[in-house]
Amino acid sequence: MASHIVGYPRMGPKRELKFALESFWDGKSSAEELQKVSADLRSSIWKQMADAGIKYIPSNTFSYYDQVLDTTAMLGAVPARYNWNGGEIGFDTYFSMARGNASVPAMEMTKWFDTNYHFIVPELGPDVKFSYASHKAVSEYKEAKSLGIDTVPVLVGPVTYLLLSKPAKGVEKTFPLLSLLDKILPIYKEVIAELKAAGASWIQFDESTLVMDLESHQLEAFTKAYAELESSLSGLNVLVETYFADVPAAAFKTLTTLKGVTAFGFDLVRGTKTLDLIKGGLPSGKYLFAGVVDGRNIWANDLDASLITLHSLEGIVGKDKLVVSTSCSLLHTAVDLVNEPKLDTEIKSWLAFAAQKVVEVNALAKALAGQKDEAFFSANAAAQASRKNSPRVNNEAVQKAAAALKGSDHRRATNVSARLDAQQKKLNLPILPTTTIGSFPQTIELRRVRREYKAKKISEEEYVKAIKEEISKVVKLQEELDIDVLVHGEPERNDMVEYFGEQLSGFAFTANGWVQSYGSRCVKPPIIYGDVSRPNPMTVFWSTAAQSMTKRPMKGMLTGPVTILNWSFVRNDQPRFETCYQIALAIKDEVEDLEKAGINVIQIDEAALREGLPLRKAEHAFYLDWAVHSFRITNVGVQDTTQIHTHMCYSNFNDIIHSIIDMDADVITIENSRSDEKLLSVFREGVKYGAGIGPGVYDIHSPRIPSTEEIADRINKMLAVLETNILWVNPDCGLKTRKYTEVKPALQNMVAAAKLLRTEL
Ligand code: GLN
Ligand code: ZN
Repeated sequence: MASHIVGYPRMGPKRELKFALESFWDGKSSAEELQKVSADLRSSIWKQMADAGIKYIPSNTFSYYDQVLDTTAMLGAVPARYNWNGGEIGFDTYFSMARGNASVPAMEMTKWFDTNYHFIVPELGPDVKFSYASHKAVSEYKEAKSLGIDTVPVLVGPVTYLLLSKPAKGVEKTFPLLSLLDKILPIYKEVIAELKAAGASWIQFDESTLVMDLESHQLEAFTKAYAELESSLSGLNVLVETYFADVPAAAFKTLTTLKGVTAFGFDLVRGTKTLDLIKGGLPSGKYLFAGVVDGRNIWANDLDASLITLHSLEGIVGKDKLVVSTSCSLLHTAVDLVNEPKLDTEIKSWLAFAAQKVVEVNALAKALAGQKDEAFFSANAAAQASRKNSPRVNNEAVQKAAAALKGSDHRRATNVSARLDAQQKKLNLPILPTTTIGSFPQTIELRRVRREYKAKKISEEEYVKAIKEEISKVVKLQEELDIDVLVHGEPERNDMVEYFGEQLSGFAFTANGWVQSYGSRCVKPPIIYGDVSRPNPMTVFWSTAAQSMTKRPMKGMLTGPVTILNWSFVRNDQPRFETCYQIALAIKDEVEDLEKAGINVIQIDEAALREGLPLRKAEHAFYLDWAVHSFRITNVGVQDTTQIHTHMCYSNFNDIIHSIIDMDADVITIENSRSDEKLLSVFREGVKYGAGIGPGVYDIHSPRIPSTEEIADRINKMLAVLETNILWVNPDCGLKTRKYTEVKPALQNMVAAAKLLRTEL
């Protein structure tokens, strides 16, 4: 019985690749040093899988930045602005595409399906001259082979590559990207030929766009592509891998009738319907790669349950054709539990990171082959039972309260226009009120204070004093700048989710549970393991301290339930919405405590609401319904005079505008700096709705300081579509990552622009 891993994290157990990359980019180390760190990581990963007994070990899943960019390099599809002169693509061109260089900005980056991993979007048009320009897949295969490990080289499939591309600048938006299939397949053929010559016996194509809503001409492209590749692929075993959802019935038919393909990989964790499709018929003689071990989460597999599934599949495809696998690449989970010595041992027994998942896959494969490791299985069963019954997981009161929310509705009693009137009487704000999104620059000194307090190197008293001083500085600065609605600056927060997770029950934190987000950037999501409750107020102390320093309204600053959920590793023992409702109830308590403490404006950030949108349209409505409901629950209990703001870090929500409106916030601040036109339609909806809207008037992601004229010009453009009395003036997002030398003049100009326009209105 065989085992397979779809892909593995590249960063290394202690983020070795991140540090090697950043040091190379900073000019502090050489290309050779970066290559050495990378080769060491690859070899240790391959050896680890080989030692664990994995039969089909992937290669070419390493990347210096991103696997889609690697494919762009393989195809020589370098946009002209990078002045590449042909030949093998080196670090210079590669990293210029990824990160930009002194004269040219980077290529666009976007989310990989519904994960938090971001890939570099290929820019293609009719003029691209494709050529075989990166031999990485072949050299990685050979590298592993020289270590005595025969791997399965992994390529982003040709159709998925094109479906994830966008038309290059200057090319019609309607350019049929799939028409480029004929041009890229010859290069895939060259790669395949070299892999064969190097001794490969298997090849894996990741074609996960097959799980999306595809049109028939898109499905036909798969049929065409693999028919075209069939003769090159002969002699190889060919695995087409899918993940992140079940393959819809039509796509399943296309997939399982592809020419030249001998194996199919399915996500059996998220793909709840795949099992039925497989039971309904898989062509005989083909391999089934059964992704039963979750690559998107950190929970230990329920081995007994998986074994039952695998046994039933065995009956369909036969013992020799069933391969135990992961649901997707392990890229999306943390690397190794071994590096978590401080994690509570009971909680730890419930978890499996990438290294542990490899062991699970192998244990399942061995069990199917009749060599069940009884001790391993019974330890696993014991951990599953302890998790199910643990009082740390279960809180009956919370479960009851959350269950009561399902199916009911929660809305503030008064409509938004009436509420805004009531609030205005209390707040007495000028037209075009100015505000910021929450955080102010976080200096090295500030980070040091937080670190030392955490490490108990400074006392609570010293810590509170330092933070209060920081808040007071931020308050004074905002008063000097003459901003209307102030913030405290969030100096006590390391991260907008972690800060709340640390104070809520049901959350655990890792020391090294990093997951790659893009390039060298990693995030460390909290783990929600139990029913969520709020033992104590979380922000009231700081918000009231800040309010006491000024007569102007001070915004209380919270992270919303959907964002906390979407930026955490969530429970797999209850539906997402249940966990979300629990968090919503905890935030509701906080909102009400803030109100009681005299905070009249409360912002509840939902930066990641859109991120949680399911891959397939049919599932959008259900998600949006409970997500938006969760948001409303947080503030349904406040008085009309309490102003609820929300902030979202994106502006492309044309398709979900009705849900945004349904959140029923009093004021919505959004990112706007990059896509003015797109927002127009959204604005028009906003006009009808009547809530305050603050589309960011300048981009905080860049160090550039916008002039007063420029900002005024922008506000004017918005005023052309929006009523004066609903427009707010604010930056795009929080100012945490900027320097004071940038923030001060930028905000000065922002306030000046608002004042200038007020006189003209
Ligand atoms: N209030 C947060 C801040 O200003 C919002 C950050 C975000 O939207 N990502 O930092
Ligand atoms: Zn934001």
